[in-house]
Amino acid sequence: MINYTRQIAVKHNVDICVVGCGPAGFAAAVSAARNGASVLVIDALSMPGGMSTAALVPVLMPVSDGINFLAGGIGHETYLRAQESGAMRGGAIHAEKLKYLYEDMMAEAGIAISYNTTLMDVDLDGQGINAAICHAKSGLFAIQAKIFIDCSGDGDLAALAGAPFEVGDDNGNTMPATLCSLWAGVDWNQYREGKAFSHNDDNMLAILKQAYEQGVISMDDYHHTGMTRTNDQLVTGNFSHVFGINPLDELSVTKGLIDNRKLLREYETMYRQFIRGFQSASLATSGSILGIRESRRIIAEYVLSAQDYDNRATFEDEIGRYNFSIDVHPSTPGRQALEEHKKHFRGKAYGKGESYGIPYRILCPKNTDNLLVAGRCVSTDRNMMASLRVIPGCWITGMAAGTAAAISVKNKQKPNQIDVKALQKNLHANGAFLPNFKP
Ligand SMILES: Cc1cc2nc3c(=O)[nH]c(=O)nc-3n(C[C@H](O)[C@H](O)[C@H](O)COP(=O)(O)OP(=O)(O)OC[C@H]3O[C@@H](n4cnc5c(N)ncnc54)[C@H](O)[C@@H]3O)c2cc1C
Repeated sequence: MINYTRQIAVKHNVDICVVGCGPAGFAAAVSAARNGASVLVIDALSMPGGMSTAALVPVLMPVSDGINFLAGGIGHETYLRAQESGAMRGGAIHAEKLKYLYEDMMAEAGIAISYNTTLMDVDLDGQGINAAICHAKSGLFAIQAKIFIDCSGDGDLAALAGAPFEVGDDNGNTMPATLCSLWAGVDWNQYREGKAFSHNDDNMLAILKQAYEQGVISMDDYHHTGMTRTNDQLVTGNFSHVFGINPLDELSVTKGLIDNRKLLREYETMYRQFIRGFQSASLATSGSILGIRESRRIIAEYVLSAQDYDNRATFEDEIGRYNFSIDVHPSTPGRQALEEHKKHFRGKAYGKGESYGIPYRILCPKNTDNLLVAGRCVSTDRNMMASLRVIPGCWITGMAAGTAAAISVKNKQKPNQIDVKALQKNLHANGAFLPNFKP
């Protein structure tokens, strides 16, 4: 142990600092800037989009309940512009083009961006964050802001600021991590004819079993989400779980990356050998970060729960509604784990027109004065997180957090003291799905 003290410069001073530029941080930054705030968004990576670009997540989960567009507002706009620009085809994500779209929309909103910039610490003044301490190529520096928004996915900022949090199940187990992969040279028509797509097809389950028994793949993992057709030339794979990774420990994540790259080589052999249409396919690249599904869940003034999911709950302070089923990837491989997962996932799935409310309080971490949280680390129990964590859910909470932060700045109020009706009015006017709000 050493003691280390330094004086560092305040490099940025803005109304709102957004930490993390994944789907939530992007939406938070854009909504805050459109509401008149000066905004800086930082990210440890060299691109926007977080998991949705850097991890090569292949597809957007539901944006609609079959009747209503749930990810209204910035989500809807992003979705439509993504269709136009080729960043998405339907729900299929073209990661490279999605980076361009996120950057275009942030530039239009006048947002300052600092990539390769990692939040390391905070300087606290009571329960308020005086400064975020960051590291980048220029060295250590401080960022001051009136309001901070934690969109780090892992809840790094909120945890440093003293907000309580939970990780994983009762034993600390988290969902397995995945390195998604981009493939070229696939004969899609042949692939369609082979009818071996995912763990929902008997053909694929039989192939996975055979490949495991023959030693082609080393993991008896039957949870295989499969391939998405990205465009006419490319497909993106979402499989190769690694288990027992601690998402908050870089050495564990490093092991996960190395193990996952080994697995991907095995899956490339399996696909070329057993899956129709893949005989001449080539695994072009894998995600530049490990796909982490789960880490900290920050505890805020309300904890949205699986019971709220079951009840299709409605809240007075609702900032949006969502509907994706509870998708807890099992923490162990094997066929039984998959079957239990499928039963639970399907059993919980909503019907047309159904959704649950997302209360504003889950964005306001406990024990903090000038902090909001959005994205997969918002205040939920584990099962609810497994629904709300997906990209449209992160757009919804991001837009609300950015708008709330701008209102806080404008009215010089703490986020948990703002007029929630005014927040809802603003969100509603900007396209958020708030069927219970009466203007
Ligand atoms: C393998 C996998 C498959 C998935 N499949 C789907 C799918 O098919 N459809 C779907 O809709 N969703 C899917 N998801 C879920 C979804 O992609 C993520 O939950 C979502 O991207 C979370 O968004 P976020 O903005 O909260 O966090 P993230 O996307 O994780 O972004 C957080 C950002 O914060 C940055 N950051 C973190 N810590 C720091 C720090 N200390 N300093 C600076 N920056 C920091 C990161 O670099 C990152 O860019 C999948 C996730 C995974 C892992």
